[in-house]
Amino acid sequence: MMEPVLTIVVPCYNEEEVLPVTIFQLQNLLKELITDGFVSKQSKILFVDDGSQDHTWELIYKEGLRNEYVRGLKLSKNVGHQNALLAGLFIAKDHSDCIVSIDADLQDDIKVIREFLLKFHEGYEIVYGVRKRRDTDTLFKRTTALGFYKIMEKMGVDLVFNHADFRLMSKRAVQELERFSEVNLFLRGIVPLLGFRSDVVYYDRLERHAGETKYPLTKMLAFAFEGITSFSVSPIRIVLLLGFVSFFLSLFFGVYFLTLKFFGETETGWTSLITSIWLIGGLQLIAIGLIGEYIGKIYKESKRRPKYIVDIDSYSLSKPRNNILNQTAEDEFYHLDLRQISETNH
Ligand code: UDP
Ligand code: MG
Repeated sequence: MMEPVLTIVVPCYNEEEVLPVTIFQLQNLLKELITDGFVSKQSKILFVDDGSQDHTWELIYKEGLRNEYVRGLKLSKNVGHQNALLAGLFIAKDHSDCIVSIDADLQDDIKVIREFLLKFHEGYEIVYGVRKRRDTDTLFKRTTALGFYKIMEKMGVDLVFNHADFRLMSKRAVQELERFSEVNLFLRGIVPLLGFRSDVVYYDRLERHAGETKYPLTKMLAFAFEGITSFSVSPIRIVLLLGFVSFFLSLFFGVYFLTLKFFGETETGWTSLITSIWLIGGLQLIAIGLIGEYIGKIYKESKRRPKYIVDIDSYSLSKPRNNILNQTAEDEFYHLDLRQISETNH
């Protein structure tokens, strides 16, 4: 069998601090893998710039000019980790036999990619990287993450425990993934649904190599909420159940209040009535809010908007455009170089 072409997809959002190290380490790894006959010489590292505001794209772009292993994809604006990753996967699958996705911050042990490939050679089409321990995370992140997995499990969503987006997928798996046209795409939930032969590889997750986390608490909560509401209708069932409970309770209290009115003191009944009005009002608001959440999802899905818009794709740079580095003085120079690159590429 010919060695498979591997593409390592790396989503990057404001990662200028860590990127030089990441490029260096990943290309060394790739060279080793090529020398050892694990992957083909055509293998690449694809950096996806998710609308960074710093010099991330400039770094990727310049590296692409002089490094045969590096390719870049620049999205026109920030679309978030999941969508940036998807953009990279979908572009990369046309050029490769298998694809590994990894974060730019080197928190995931890149040596594990070799084990992923061993599994791939054994015929596994999806290989999940699973963290052994979480002691480099804060206690807060650990407990919230655990809670998240527990809730998802309860709601019947099939997730690989302690697996983030560090995984290998075959070309075919990514092609199938592309057929999930939903806009609210929660990758960790979808990939197990593909159903191909899969396995897990355990590794230790390290500290972020440089730079800050791009997942502050607000984004994390939004991510968890997205994951739950785009996969499960259980929340709405709970609301429904609450609705029934409060309905029967109000019947019971209704009888009680009537009894008070005819045989006792009305003032006391008024207090409990007003309390229950507030209670039920609150419940109704929660219910309406949740229903709204689902209607919002239907609304988004029905629009079928593209999940990302590619600005520059250095795989197919046959026609260099003039908006590449935001019209810097070096523009002419880059265009010349790009033309040379695309000529040697085709
Ligand atoms: N990322 C991205 N777009 C975003 C936020 C993050 O592409 O809007 C990338 C980021 O550059 C990194 C990966 O997603 O490569 C994971 O982010 P981070 O390491 O900050 O998350 P954490 O490991 O703290 O959960
Ligand atoms: Mg990280």
